[in-house]
Amino acid sequence: MVTLIETIIFSSLKMAKLYFYYSAMNAGKTTTLLQSAYNYRERGMNTLVLKPKVDDRHAAINVRSRIGLESDAVSFEAEDDLFALTEKTDQHTKLSCVLLDEAQFLTKDQVFSLCEIVDELGIPVLAYGLRTDFRGELFEGSLNLLAWADELVEIKTICHCGKKAGMVLRLDENGKPMSSGDQVKIGGNDIYVSVCRKHFKQQQAENILDGSGTNLSS
Ligand SMILES: [Zn+2]
Repeated sequence: MVTLIETIIFSSLKMAKLYFYYSAMNAGKTTTLLQSAYNYRERGMNTLVLKPKVDDRHAAINVRSRIGLESDAVSFEAEDDLFALTEKTDQHTKLSCVLLDEAQFLTKDQVFSLCEIVDELGIPVLAYGLRTDFRGELFEGSLNLLAWADELVEIKTICHCGKKAGMVLRLDENGKPMSSGDQVKIGGNDIYVSVCRKHFKQQQAENILDGSGTNLSS
């Protein structure tokens, strides 16, 4: 005999999913995250907003979008156990959803933890992040989210030519696109530009032609 509470728990376990919302830069990922968090809270449901410590653009305990929305957040580091953190929070305040900003910076183990939150705790997880870096290569977090998430949702933005922009260019201090350097460098609108694949390829070809891959400022 299945009791009512078991039915509720079972249906929530069945419904919980890991979502990966991915895009290029400046497509409104954080705005979308904050809107979702707001929708939950408006219905009296609790959420946990997480963000990796690598992003120090704003106060460490806030997630803030470029259009001014913001929310309290819990920051974490690469070695932190996101399952334990979520379970502890959930025991204290029943959670309806976990939202995660800058998900490209997750480690493989942390993506696995997100799966455990969904599968073992029955809490939906919405992760938002970049798909590729400025070299056109997957981030560790994105690679593992693309492999493990239940649902993949693209947040679209457009290139200067009007096509969908799926790639990211990183500009140096002179506004020239770079083709090498550290994968992680946090910045605002002036450092990263989203372009379509055709214009990304064109830029890479130009970088090879002028041999400026490593130092474009010379
Ligand atoms: Zn284009």
